[in-house]
Amino acid sequence: GTLLAAAVRFPALAQSAPALSRAHADRIARLIADMSVAEKLGQMTQVAGGRQVALNSRLDAAALDRVRAGQIGSFLHVAGAEPLRDLQRVAVAESRLGIPLLFAMDVVHGYRTIFPVPLALAASFDPAVAEDAARVAAVEAAVSGLHWTFAPMIDIARDARWGRVVEGAGEDPHLGARIAVAQITGFQTADLAGRDAVLACAKHLGAYGAGMGGRDYDTADVSERTLREVYLSPFLAAAEAGVGTMMTAFNDLAGVPTTGNADLVRGILRDEWNYQGLVVSDWNAVSELIDHGAASTPAEAAALALRASVDMDMTSDTYAEHLGTALAQDPTLLPLVDQAVGRILATKARLGLFDDPYRFGDAARERTVLGSAGHRARARRAAERALVLLRNEGGVLPLRAGAKVALVGALADDARSTLGSWKARGVQEDSGTLREAMGDATFVPGVAPRSDDVSGIPAAVAAAQGADVVVLVVGEDFDHSGEARSRADITLPGSQMALIAALRVTGKPIVAVLMNGRPLALEAALEGIPAVLESWFGGNEAGPAIADALFGRSNPAGRLPMGMPRTGGQLPLFYAHPPTGRPANPDLTVDSARYHDTEIGPLFPFGHGLSYARFTYADLAVDTQADRQQARYTVTCAVTNDGAVAGDEVVQLYVRAPVAGLARPGRELRGFVRLPLAPGQTRRVSFTLTSDQFAHWADQGWQVAAGRVELMVGASSADIRLTGALAVPQAYALPASA
Ligand code: BGC
Repeated sequence: GTLLAAAVRFPALAQSAPALSRAHADRIARLIADMSVAEKLGQMTQVAGGRQVALNSRLDAAALDRVRAGQIGSFLHVAGAEPLRDLQRVAVAESRLGIPLLFAMDVVHGYRTIFPVPLALAASFDPAVAEDAARVAAVEAAVSGLHWTFAPMIDIARDARWGRVVEGAGEDPHLGARIAVAQITGFQTADLAGRDAVLACAKHLGAYGAGMGGRDYDTADVSERTLREVYLSPFLAAAEAGVGTMMTAFNDLAGVPTTGNADLVRGILRDEWNYQGLVVSDWNAVSELIDHGAASTPAEAAALALRASVDMDMTSDTYAEHLGTALAQDPTLLPLVDQAVGRILATKARLGLFDDPYRFGDAARERTVLGSAGHRARARRAAERALVLLRNEGGVLPLRAGAKVALVGALADDARSTLGSWKARGVQEDSGTLREAMGDATFVPGVAPRSDDVSGIPAAVAAAQGADVVVLVVGEDFDHSGEARSRADITLPGSQMALIAALRVTGKPIVAVLMNGRPLALEAALEGIPAVLESWFGGNEAGPAIADALFGRSNPAGRLPMGMPRTGGQLPLFYAHPPTGRPANPDLTVDSARYHDTEIGPLFPFGHGLSYARFTYADLAVDTQADRQQARYTVTCAVTNDGAVAGDEVVQLYVRAPVAGLARPGRELRGFVRLPLAPGQTRRVSFTLTSDQFAHWADQGWQVAAGRVELMVGASSADIRLTGALAVPQAYALPASA
């Protein structure tokens, strides 16, 4: 059968305004007419609940008084069906206008049931897996009374030193957009007013992932073209997919802090894309406009953020306390306040909170739904599909049943670390570890990634000597990656290198299982190691999923969503770079850019991942329908499983569209599909492209150039199996907005 690989429209054009019923629209208009300025600023204020409010049912008295006075529109970092019902009752029954509160939390890759970290979900190259993870997270969050999650993080990341690469989908805008849309769909479903749907939040606008040197929060200084084509591309897809909210970022973009950046938020998001959803600042970011040096007083900071069309102030209370001063000085700001309040109330209406403020949160279902066996089974499947087999020389994997295995590395028994960063509250660390899943393997911790203690190495060596094969678990612990967890040196931390050196001397075959929230620089560490399985932080079910893959009970098929560097000195690293113009290296992927002291290419490229099966590609065909300005193409090829076991092949379509006057990337992903194939089976894959997808940003707009576009189909960005070409018959510009 033919499998159709869906293509995200690139660039997309605009979002149509989410429909509000007549009754809701009227109610919101009446409320806004009736509200005092203080009540309006209250709706625009989000307060951190923390432990006092709601979590333990001990509602903080001062916060409750503010709710009664209509001075709070939303809480974050709260949870629990019963406490949130109580808190909602105060807003609805005891405040003058009875406007329901919005309850938010960072439910990133699970609430009680923890899925693989987002980077790992992207590594599945299977948007359905990312969608399913978001769906389970939403169901669990909603029964615990939450309306809104600050996810997905859709920042493109090309520098693995940045700690937050763990939260995103990696380096590529096409993969990033496809995963983002899947996550948004999983959280929100088709109907935000439906049961167990929660609001998603696309964050962080914008170019937060482009911070200099991989440093968190640092300045991003990217060209307008790179901003549009790379960093904003997933946000455009998110807007088009109807994401209910977006979050601005901490960083400045070419000197203008994003939370006060009117060109970015009002100009691009609102005016160009017609985005109608709620925009929230990041934590304290409104008041940090002063720390950036962009505003000199809190009133100025509030006015800057409002002018940029940031609707809600997360935690800084700058809107609540100082926007009034700004309004008194400049009454022309008042319509902007009304627009912001209108978007916040519309969001509450879309969630159904005006119809039933208590429709979220169900203490009885909380007991049966959170961490249910069904959810754990779905987490298991995701953990399995996120695994990436990076190297397998001499058939070391899969392990023979009955082989004597020495399992080495403290991470193999570290249940907390498999959960990664952003572990939502209430999670019990009841993950099965790899140690438990490996049955009668001899476990020796050896060393832990946090410590320089080498005293455990001799016992590890002894275990290796008595075994047929060593399964060595190395990498980072959960707290090496995440927010404010940038690392200058992304080699193996602690004394893990010493452990590897000692094990190498035993001469036993080593299978390295990597645990990490970012690509690490492991050229030296992995030298001479015949098999490498990337397991990321795989969530509650990481252990059994890894064991299944090691023993061949499952067949790994994930792919790298970011290239893995040889050394940190190669960063930032990404495959989609333009030719330098210097005489080319015969290997197209590395072009002519080079280092004097190391190879230019990554250790493992973007899109790379092996299988226990073997796949061959044949018969690339292109069908063009060019009857109107926007040409459509169908690109097909045949893929065969020539191996002895069933497996999935991730078939990837890259394009190169030369453009007069510009150096364009040598290849860019424009389609992929994870294709299951039985042994001996052949299937045809079909990708649909439109000429819009070859657009580039120039002269303040999207331009499509006429001419030849090269096609490359293969198993990774550096393993192209088939090439072809198509033609764009005529040049045209895409409309700037709808
Ligand atoms: C992070 C956001 C997060 C927020 C609320 C900030 O520090 O940058 O991604 O949503 O905190 O927890």
